[in-house]
Amino acid sequence: MMKKHALSSFLAVSLAAVFNSSVVADDGPLLGNYGLVPMPHCVDGHGRTVKYYGVSTQTLRQAKAGLARAFFDGGQPVVEYDKERLPRANPEFQKHVLWHECVHHQRDHFRPHISDEFAEREADCGALKINGYDLKTAMRIADTMDALYPYDPNAMIQAVATDMHPVLKRCFE
Ligand SMILES: [Zn+2]
Repeated sequence: MMKKHALSSFLAVSLAAVFNSSVVADDGPLLGNYGLVPMPHCVDGHGRTVKYYGVSTQTLRQAKAGLARAFFDGGQPVVEYDKERLPRANPEFQKHVLWHECVHHQRDHFRPHISDEFAEREADCGALKINGYDLKTAMRIADTMDALYPYDPNAMIQAVATDMHPVLKRCFE
């Protein structure tokens, strides 16, 4: 019994270490061959499990979306993510994007009379909170967005035409 207890304490310490390392900004490059992180277990505001699908950059562009989008396919809540670009971004960034889309479903942002600005802010701030990210990590996420999608104020895609630095910083004010 003692041994078992010692082992579970050890596991708890190790898990805490793993958890902390995912919270604090790492010094790895913003872009690389990271591969995809596991998809979040996401349940929407009506208790339905959200399905994640990888699609091409072109498919998202046709939908005027950036790296990912949340929508309904029939009654099924769905997230589509860019399977070409997202695996190149560091895991912190990937988790932010994937949880951002989940929060759109969790908070049921598809109801009428919810402004885009409100929904995007709630999705960004909610994802930062779920992932336990600090301001420094949030600024790295904005840097990674710039690296993947160079900022262009005239872009048709809102995610590209928005500088994420002040947007994410507001979540900490
Ligand atoms: Zn969004």
